[in-house]
Amino acid sequence: MRPFLTTRLFLISIAIFSSCTVQGQSIRLFVDLTEAPRNIYHAKLTIPAKPGPMTLVYPKWIPGNHRPSGPIANLTGLRMEAGGKTLQWQRDPVDMYAFHVEVPPIATGIVVSFDDITNAGSAGASGASTSSNLLDLNWNQVVLYPQGTSSDAVEVVPSVRLPAGWKFGSALGMTHESNGLIEFNPVSLTTLVDSPLIAGSHYRKLQLTSEGENQLHVMDLVGESDVDLDMTQQDLDSYKKLVAETGVLFEARHYRQYHFLYTFSDEVGHHGLEHHESSDNSVAERTLNDPSLHLLEAGLLPHEFVHSWNGKYRRPAGLATRNYQEPMIGDLLWVYEGLTEYLGDMLTARSGLWSPEQYREALAETAAMLDHRVGRTWRPLEDTARSVLITTSPIRLFPPARS
Ligand SMILES: [Zn+2]
Repeated sequence: MRPFLTTRLFLISIAIFSSCTVQGQSIRLFVDLTEAPRNIYHAKLTIPAKPGPMTLVYPKWIPGNHRPSGPIANLTGLRMEAGGKTLQWQRDPVDMYAFHVEVPPIATGIVVSFDDITNAGSAGASGASTSSNLLDLNWNQVVLYPQGTSSDAVEVVPSVRLPAGWKFGSALGMTHESNGLIEFNPVSLTTLVDSPLIAGSHYRKLQLTSEGENQLHVMDLVGESDVDLDMTQQDLDSYKKLVAETGVLFEARHYRQYHFLYTFSDEVGHHGLEHHESSDNSVAERTLNDPSLHLLEAGLLPHEFVHSWNGKYRRPAGLATRNYQEPMIGDLLWVYEGLTEYLGDMLTARSGLWSPEQYREALAETAAMLDHRVGRTWRPLEDTARSVLITTSPIRLFPPARS
């Protein structure tokens, strides 16, 4: 069995990426989100370039999705310019994610703009990314980067403009905020794609940091109404206990801070997607207050939180690729997802989100599902992991699609 590869420690990666990048050679990315309620993101990138042929690529293999699910069909209205002059670009005839352009003499960079249609098929969810009241921005939706580069070595300076009055949550560090314009710290493309942003007209922020913990733990909630965000004291206590229990279980934290991004809507796609310093979770509107939905979704946040250790800090070698165009090999996803499922459910019970009896019932359900045949006589265990590439939702045990 291929050994686990130790993925880069976050702080070490910052040091390495800083040494690889050239001062003044950052990609500047501005995303106008003011038309999010109409399901459109407007992206504008200023990309350093040298005269001559250049190929830009749109992220294809999305971490956590483990599949070539980058929503290229949603990219439209692509324009490239240099020195105020429109450049002719060509999509590669074979690779739909690659765009070729000739950078004119003297130019030191090009300006690229395009729209991302967000009503279907965004990475991380099968449904829409936005509604009239909220949005979920996965940065892989709105970036192009030079073909062949390492995502660790590409520095991006991101900024967004939100619809008037909306508030946001993200693990990204902010440098400036004024009238809905938010400017973030420069980060590697790896960190950017790993740091989604949610925003909405109905927003709450809850502190979950345990006593004696150094790292900040925050829950950012957006919903279709304030009622959707009305968390009971019991749930709040449970999520605080979840943080404390992971401290006891893992005995170490590898992140600077952690954000549980939590969206409540019947209009957008439902999913859970893990990241290093956050998780992007989207559920039905009444989940906090409907007992059936609450029971169904209780394990979602614990599962995605465990992935920060098992999946992000530690990752199977085949999934730790150099950039988003290199194919992933999912042979060890049975560990990546299986161990996370086990630990996530255990923490769901230890945190109080499930009662002991509900946990036992969940274990009984799993046992019953596996009881009708001896699993490995059906197909190799490894095939359940490798075939994730052709499934529509990786490891779909029950709604929502968790990864
Ligand atoms: Zn998972």
